[in-house]
Amino acid sequence: MSIRLRLTLWYVSLLAIILITFSGALYAVLSLSLFTEVDRSLESRANEVSNSLSTTLEVQTEPRVFILRGGRLTLPTADAFSTPGVFVQITTLDGVAITRSENLGAQTLAVSSSALSQVSNGESIFSSMTRDRAPLRMFVVPLTVRGQVIAAVVVAESLQPVSDTLRQLAVLLVGGILVALILASAVGFVLAGTALAPIDRITQTAKSIANSNDLASRIEEKNKNDEVGRLAATFNEMLGRIEELFRAQQRFVADVSHELRSPLTAIRGNLDLLRRGAIDNIEERQTALAAVDSEASRMQRLVVDLLLLAQADAGVEIHKQIVELDTLLLDVYRQVRLTAPSVKVILGGEDQIQVAGDPDRLKQLFLNLMDNAVKYTPTGGQVTLSFGHDDNGDCAQVSVSDTGVGIPEQDLPKVFDRFYRVDKARSREKGGTGLGLSIAKWIVDQHGGKIDVASQLGKGTTFTVCLPLVKQNGTT
Ligand code: ADP
Repeated sequence: MSIRLRLTLWYVSLLAIILITFSGALYAVLSLSLFTEVDRSLESRANEVSNSLSTTLEVQTEPRVFILRGGRLTLPTADAFSTPGVFVQITTLDGVAITRSENLGAQTLAVSSSALSQVSNGESIFSSMTRDRAPLRMFVVPLTVRGQVIAAVVVAESLQPVSDTLRQLAVLLVGGILVALILASAVGFVLAGTALAPIDRITQTAKSIANSNDLASRIEEKNKNDEVGRLAATFNEMLGRIEELFRAQQRFVADVSHELRSPLTAIRGNLDLLRRGAIDNIEERQTALAAVDSEASRMQRLVVDLLLLAQADAGVEIHKQIVELDTLLLDVYRQVRLTAPSVKVILGGEDQIQVAGDPDRLKQLFLNLMDNAVKYTPTGGQVTLSFGHDDNGDCAQVSVSDTGVGIPEQDLPKVFDRFYRVDKARSREKGGTGLGLSIAKWIVDQHGGKIDVASQLGKGTTFTVCLPLVKQNGTT
């Protein structure tokens, strides 16, 4: 069942419950008050007639005998009872009607013998009956003269007007409820449709994006402050992110194929020359083989880096342990110094530091930074490795500075992007894969640290890494 229909049903059911409860209460209160009003008026009229007749009968020497012999009584204020709905009758205690109001015509009001016996004991009673199929309410009171009950005064009123009023009210209420519910269903359905229309639009857009693979489409955000507007904004934000990831993925695949194509072309070219025997000079043959070897190594490095980045993307976690960072950095320093005879590699400040991390990954991180520093520093330049605590003593700070070519300011924010190179030719020539700094950044992030770069073109570059220190109790 659609949300629109469900909302409408809920709304209409709630309205129906409220209207029915309210109408039922109204009907009950009104009918109670109308019936009570009838009883009260019957009571007062009966007492009035009884008092008036008692006074009249006082003058009789034998009122009881007068009544028994069917003596005619003139009803007081007869006009007051000639209204079509109110009837009065005087009945002997044996049930014989001796006087009645004119509006009763030939008919009499039948009083049950049990009612008459109650009246003879001085009690007054209410009862209901029907006359000409119309409901009647009857009140019987004793007619007492000189302390003796000699007859019964019967006053009755037709309940027809009350029933008519109540029936009209019921028809009005039921009709009103039905009309209100039909109207409410229609209005509710339209309103729910209007409120949910933007969600439908979102669904349509999502469908069209799915069908056309067009991640650049966006949902129209009409009112950003309401719930649907916020949903549309969130959806657009998510689309933006997916589009960004998708484009990055496409760029990455294109970059990878491009990176693999150049060494493969070089390898195939050289192999082709060798196979065809086109090189007869032994030295040139050695050069061709060396080129094949170097391109194959570059491909190998590229594949290893790509594998690591794929693991990073898959969310592979590193395994941390307590690492003596100063010892690890001294190792890196010695290793780089041996392999870089063209530049001067020196140690700046050094301090004892412990961090929680993966020693292999940390070594890879600092080797990458040191290799880059050596790679981009011309012969005779200097590379400095320093490590210690930062000024606040919050983290282990390691910096790698060089006096090399530097990085233009506009390229600084991009150097950590995959395959980003400031100077593509120089990077390739030096055997770079363009992935070293993105791997370095991933390792730093995995250790909860920070990596920054500062550089001046033609003067040199400094990479600074901050890693959380291991505190006394072993926490970071
Ligand atoms: P590559 O394999 O090309 O060195 P990296 O990801 O390690 O890839 O570095 C990205 C780019 O940042 C390099 O191509 C280079 O242009 C620049 N770069 C990195 N380190 C330095 C440095 N110490 N001095 C100058 N440029 C650098």
